[in-house]
Amino acid sequence: MAKDYYVVPIFVPHQGCPHDCVFCNQKRISGVDRQLKSEEIRYEIDSILSTLDYDHNPRVEIAFFGGSFTGIDVPLQEMYLAIGYDYVQRGLVDALRLSTRPDYIDDEILKRLKRYGVAVVELGVQSMHDDVLVASNRGHSRMDVLRACNLIKSYGFTLGVQLMPGLPDDSVSRFKETVDQVLEIAPDIIRLYPTLVIRDTALALDYEAGLYQPMSLEDAVQACAYGLERFLERGIDVIRIGLQPTEAVSESGDVLAGPFHPSFRQLVEGELFRRRLMHEIEAMEDMDLANLKGKKLNIRCRENQISSVSGLNKRNKEALLKKYGFSNIKIIGVKAMMPYTIVIEVF
Ligand code: SF4
Repeated sequence: MAKDYYVVPIFVPHQGCPHDCVFCNQKRISGVDRQLKSEEIRYEIDSILSTLDYDHNPRVEIAFFGGSFTGIDVPLQEMYLAIGYDYVQRGLVDALRLSTRPDYIDDEILKRLKRYGVAVVELGVQSMHDDVLVASNRGHSRMDVLRACNLIKSYGFTLGVQLMPGLPDDSVSRFKETVDQVLEIAPDIIRLYPTLVIRDTALALDYEAGLYQPMSLEDAVQACAYGLERFLERGIDVIRIGLQPTEAVSESGDVLAGPFHPSFRQLVEGELFRRRLMHEIEAMEDMDLANLKGKKLNIRCRENQISSVSGLNKRNKEALLKKYGFSNIKIIGVKAMMPYTIVIEVF
């Protein structure tokens, strides 16, 4: 099916990053460990663009991901940006986006990004707790995050924030505080990446030495479900939950431990729907919970969210059947419904 939005990802390896965040092994995550030449970047972009369906006027963006883009040498940054901007000027791409660190943002940097048609700047914020940032060897503070976010917004960029529940010294309650503080910043988009222990990282050494305990899958789902709920309430788009299960990042690959699940987003959305369904059922007027036994429940939701409403392996359906004693639960997909909304009917 034709999409209305395409991202052309160009992975910028660890170049220029003098930091050593405990969880990071960019070479393994991106699957790229060397500097691409400009012809290779163009070849990569051309190959992806040649597969796109332009008939529906989709929005197309080139995304520089994988490193701290604005921390790499300026001539190299400009090489990447000039290539991307060339595609923008030729009308093949609408805009550029990139990810970087909060302490690699200032006026000069943002003016450069504006000149080259960058529309979206995503920041690796990870946590709003200074002690979590220190324990993770991030090398920036919460104040750096606040300063960078305000500056990015003042230049009119779309602001993205990446958060990582489960870093050293983090907890579900601390992550909830991070979410609450990020809501005050009011970014436009969010990515939630639960911390995984990747081979050949400082975190892997700490894990093997018994000095770091990853967040459990259940806690990571709870933490992310809280984030998803709060961000949705404010109209903030949560564009990614969990790492893409690529070959390199999978239980049998480079992930040594941590809350990895190939359907992590579905788990989180399932938890969100479970909470919402219980809330809706228990808030029904004129309905005594004791009288639900034997009744039928119809749930209407957006067509493409039926499996999340049902929960992984139908766990939500089963939990509701067991808790309230419904005789039957039917989930009805409605194309026109807004994402994450549900309407229930008990009869
Ligand atoms: S700043 Fe980014 S690229 Fe550098 S070590 Fe940390 S996570 Fe990796």
